Amino acid sequence: MTDFTYAMDADGVVTLTWDVKTKSMNVMSTEAFQLLSGMVDRALADPAAKGIILTSGKKDFAGGMDLNVIAAMRAGGAQAIFDGVMGMHHVLRKIELAGMDPKTKKGGKPIVAALPGTALGIGLELPLACHRIIAADNARAKIGLPEILVGIFPGGGGTTRLTRKLGAMMAAPFLLEGKLSDPKAAKAAGLIDEVVAPEDLLARAKEWVLAAKDTDLVKPWDEKGYKMPGGAPYHPAGFMTFVGANAMVGGKTMGVYPAAKELLGAVYEGALVPFDTAIRIEARHFTSLLMNPSSTAMIRSLFINKEALEKGANRPRVTDQTVKKVGIIGAGMMGAGIAYVSANAGIDVVLIDAAQEAADRGKAYSEGLLDKGMQRKKVTAEKKAEVLGRILATTDYAALAGCDLIVEAVFEDPKVKAEVTARVEAVVGDACIFATNTSTLPISSLAKASQRPEQFIGIHFFSPVDKMMLVEIIRGKATGDVAVAKALDYVRQIRKTPIVVNDARFFYANRCIIPYINEGIRMLAEGVEPALVENAAKLVGMPLGPLQLVDETSIDLGVKIAKATKAAMGDAYPDGAVDEVLFWMADQGRIGKKAGAGFYAYDPAGKREGLWEGLEARFPAAKDQPDLASVQHRLLMAQVLEAVRALEESVLTDIREGDVGAILGWGFAPWSGGPFGWLDIIGAARAVEICDSLTETFGPRFTAPKMLRDMAAKGDSFYPQPGAKAA
Ligand code: NAD
Repeated sequence: MTDFTYAMDADGVVTLTWDVKTKSMNVMSTEAFQLLSGMVDRALADPAAKGIILTSGKKDFAGGMDLNVIAAMRAGGAQAIFDGVMGMHHVLRKIELAGMDPKTKKGGKPIVAALPGTALGIGLELPLACHRIIAADNARAKIGLPEILVGIFPGGGGTTRLTRKLGAMMAAPFLLEGKLSDPKAAKAAGLIDEVVAPEDLLARAKEWVLAAKDTDLVKPWDEKGYKMPGGAPYHPAGFMTFVGANAMVGGKTMGVYPAAKELLGAVYEGALVPFDTAIRIEARHFTSLLMNPSSTAMIRSLFINKEALEKGANRPRVTDQTVKKVGIIGAGMMGAGIAYVSANAGIDVVLIDAAQEAADRGKAYSEGLLDKGMQRKKVTAEKKAEVLGRILATTDYAALAGCDLIVEAVFEDPKVKAEVTARVEAVVGDACIFATNTSTLPISSLAKASQRPEQFIGIHFFSPVDKMMLVEIIRGKATGDVAVAKALDYVRQIRKTPIVVNDARFFYANRCIIPYINEGIRMLAEGVEPALVENAAKLVGMPLGPLQLVDETSIDLGVKIAKATKAAMGDAYPDGAVDEVLFWMADQGRIGKKAGAGFYAYDPAGKREGLWEGLEARFPAAKDQPDLASVQHRLLMAQVLEAVRALEESVLTDIREGDVGAILGWGFAPWSGGPFGWLDIIGAARAVEICDSLTETFGPRFTAPKMLRDMAAKGDSFYPQPGAKAA
């Protein structure tokens, strides 16, 4: 283990350099923590050592704790977690007290953290235990505690130290939202102490160590009479903060994210007691959080599996397929967005539309986004010129020569798409891969228009392209491995998360989301209060209720999809009750947000107000309303059962893709880790019980798939669980 190295110079300043050789970014492991602890002991015990600089051998300081370690900790149970976390706290506290006399607070050795770049999670909690934090002036560096974003909270003392350093109110955005700052902003916020030119970093750190006085080493919370900035909970100002924060967090998280609750508990209870007790409280809340299946599920999907998919977990083993020049056909809403993300990733773009004005409008979309970026100081004038310089907007198909990937985003019409395919193939080279962005047409049938069906694939983006992180890659019947690898390499280049699915109606994401919308609409038709439907969805962690969602995606699109599906399915079409509502809404001209009128009412500026009052007259509320849980079961099962069926039918081939795709694609209750994560949390047996009861009341669409029934019978789970066998 060489994650840290120890070196003392002639002036007695010890430099501990963090450099995990097997990784491009430092991450902390249990063993590395022990190693660091031993080195701190050595420096504190060596009379020749005057102080310590803790720095990194890489361009960044650290990315955080190795989350695989945290996932593994849970296997040992609550006591093991608590002991492990307390072990870490002892090391951090040892650094903080640095050998000083507990009474006089004298005789400690100064320890300074010198951060060359990014410092996240434990990579900031460790510096927070040091006596001073100096960062290199590096605008690309990110400093902060992003734990909450993967379902945990800073459990390495960061919660307790930052609250005591900044006060609960000022620490809130960093702890509760995982806000990250560049070094200058971090200094302004009080997160770190000093920003210096990168070349001066170590010299300045040494200078500070050699000049530090005893009093420079004592943390405010270790001084007599310490008062928390902004007030502790029973101080009048603190009281307001805590009451407000509690309500705010409850409103934002709808009570479904245990991390936010545990974090608030640790902050509130910790604020009432001395530091060392507060740290124990933090460790208890952290343990309780890690024992909650939601945190395991979130870490698994939002970090471990998301990263695995981005790194090509399901990529066929063929040579590098990095895209150099992409041709985008159709410069409408989707094509324009795809052009932007591609050019932004350094790929040359040929953006084609039928008319030059349309192509130009498509390119202007990038300009608009870049201008917004400049206003927010995220984009420089050079960057803007560079990105726009990469986009050629034209009507001339000959410009596609030399493209190694085509993404087609023309009208959703098989005839138009077939024409475009033939025109493109006439000008591009033999090796070029052709991708369609269709959302509803089967890839295998569109591929019939291609001379090279093995090079024909679906790359399905979500709208708005620049914001949505998921890309669904669809393998048609004839699609070959090179095409899949090309699509995956392209998605990696544009820094999004891919899932690879097989060709079937609506692929994966839309297949699951449509039943969710439909279930909400069905309930409305049945006389369930629309407010109950919408709130039930949000209270179970869905970002939008089904009625709001259909307003956003537009009701006329729903009508179009319903008509096409009905034409394709004939008598087997199951959604007549839904269509009655959809078609009626469309007849009223209430086609959704874009028209300023849908299931919701909108003000003249397009801002959503409340549910539309006209709904009550057409769909009067029944006297007896269902309970919240049964509404939630219907809304969740509508999606989850589709996901299981997609797996059964081999549309999905990897549950990790099913879960990550659900969270990133349509915001499926992230606290649950995704549809399969949720089924594991409640257990297959309970899931079957819910299905049986829903089937009895609402019909066969809730019939438990055979796979789920078999799992229930055998006590299996989708992911390996402590004490259960994985399916
Ligand atoms: P859009 O109508 O905004 O854009 C289509 C563009 O294609 C128009 O600019 C049109 O002029 C151009 N076009 C039409 N025929 C052409 C031809 N022969 N040659 C060159 N250009 C031509 O549509 P959109 O919303 O961007 O959708 C495009 C595709 O993406 C569709 O297949 C759609 O199903 C799919 N899609 C849409 C969404 C969405 O949310 N809108 C999401 C995923 C996928």
